[in-house]
Amino acid sequence: MKKLQAITGMKDLLPGDSPVWQYLENTIRSVLQSYGYREIRFPILEQTELFKRGIGEATDIVEKEMYTFEDRNGDMLTLRPEGTASCVRACEQHQMLFDRGILTQKLWYTGPMFRHEKPQKGRLRQFHQFGVEAFGFKGPDVDAELLQMTASLWKKLGILDVVSLQLNSLGNAAARKAHRQALIAYFEQHVDQLDDDSKRRLHTNPLRIFDSKVDSTRSLFDKAPMLNEYLDDESKEHFDALLKLLDELGVNYTIDPLLVRGLDYYSNTVFEWVTDKLGSQGTICGGGRYDSLVEQLGGKPTSAIGFGMGVERLILMLTELNLVPEQVQQQLDVYILAVGDVKADAMKLGQELRDSVEGLRVQVHGGAGNFRAQMKKADRSGASIALVLGEDEVSRGVVAVKYLREEREQQTLTKQELFSVFN
Ligand code: ATP
Ligand code: MG
Repeated sequence: MKKLQAITGMKDLLPGDSPVWQYLENTIRSVLQSYGYREIRFPILEQTELFKRGIGEATDIVEKEMYTFEDRNGDMLTLRPEGTASCVRACEQHQMLFDRGILTQKLWYTGPMFRHEKPQKGRLRQFHQFGVEAFGFKGPDVDAELLQMTASLWKKLGILDVVSLQLNSLGNAAARKAHRQALIAYFEQHVDQLDDDSKRRLHTNPLRIFDSKVDSTRSLFDKAPMLNEYLDDESKEHFDALLKLLDELGVNYTIDPLLVRGLDYYSNTVFEWVTDKLGSQGTICGGGRYDSLVEQLGGKPTSAIGFGMGVERLILMLTELNLVPEQVQQQLDVYILAVGDVKADAMKLGQELRDSVEGLRVQVHGGAGNFRAQMKKADRSGASIALVLGEDEVSRGVVAVKYLREEREQQTLTKQELFSVFN
């Protein structure tokens, strides 16, 4: 019989790799919460309509990447390809954004996202994101704070000097409309040089043509009308104030006038943190301002800004650059050997240790085995201390302590003395 396999582009996370994930997740969580962001969780499945309206019909995601199916009631459902639309939906549904006036919310979430893309290094069909959304803040201070927060995370992870921040402003709707018309007119004159995707986008989403990787298309970019030439005064002011704050905060950036982001809903500030350490999947975090989305999904006009960061790409960076702290790999502190008829005593000792030392990870030897066999297991377990319990020790009320990772004499301690080793 053919062996069953995980779906292409969807990966198991094995116990050998989970410590690195936990380390990364804990670090991200603690940084986000240290800025006052609070966790929100929403379902992985939503009505397809939410993403069509929220992300935009003329985007890669909605056009060709969504996992969409009809459920048993005939409803069209989609596995979430990103979190922003669901987050706005949840906030609206629970009146978190408006109560006789705009409310502010700083939220974060994490979990799997699903996109039917070509799987490759750093690009999966089930991948994981941390996402952050701030509602009700006009900025630009909150824009700057978001970037300060990401920079401080990179610093904690040790990757600040191998990532760089690309910034742009998309202006307001009127500016984008004027630019869009100029862009269509320009590309129409050179339509023979456009690749097929770009031709298709010309009248649906011409800004996306700047995402093209095809040389003949790219050669047109130099002379194309640039969005920054069309920026309205308010957007310009917003952008300038953001840059000034970033300068004052010491957050380095590069302005990239071609940065337009993949999703339809952005306006004003857009940004990406990129690295050259991951080949062509070099964006580890991307986001921006989307002041019109809440209204587009049926709410009151609400300022909003957020980002999504790719967990798999960060894991790749940490492991390839050898940046995972050594102690992260250690998953056990104490291994208790039970030699002879002392199983219950060993299990009780394990319980006492777990109860009295917060966070201590204790494994009691499972099954049979003589001293040598159990010692071998203890060594392989990764624990730093082995406690040996035999009939003799039990009757004397002591335990033998062996230090597995340091040159140190074995000790025989009473229980009282043993607890003081950990406290
Ligand atoms: P890309 O240009 O690489 O396709 P994107 O613009 O589609 O990225 P976003 O929708 O902004 O990505 O998602 C935010 C982040 O999530 C990305 O910067 C990236 O780190 C990560 N990401 C997006 N798609 C994938 C994927 N298929 N596999 C792994 N990570 C992904
Ligand atoms: Mg993409």
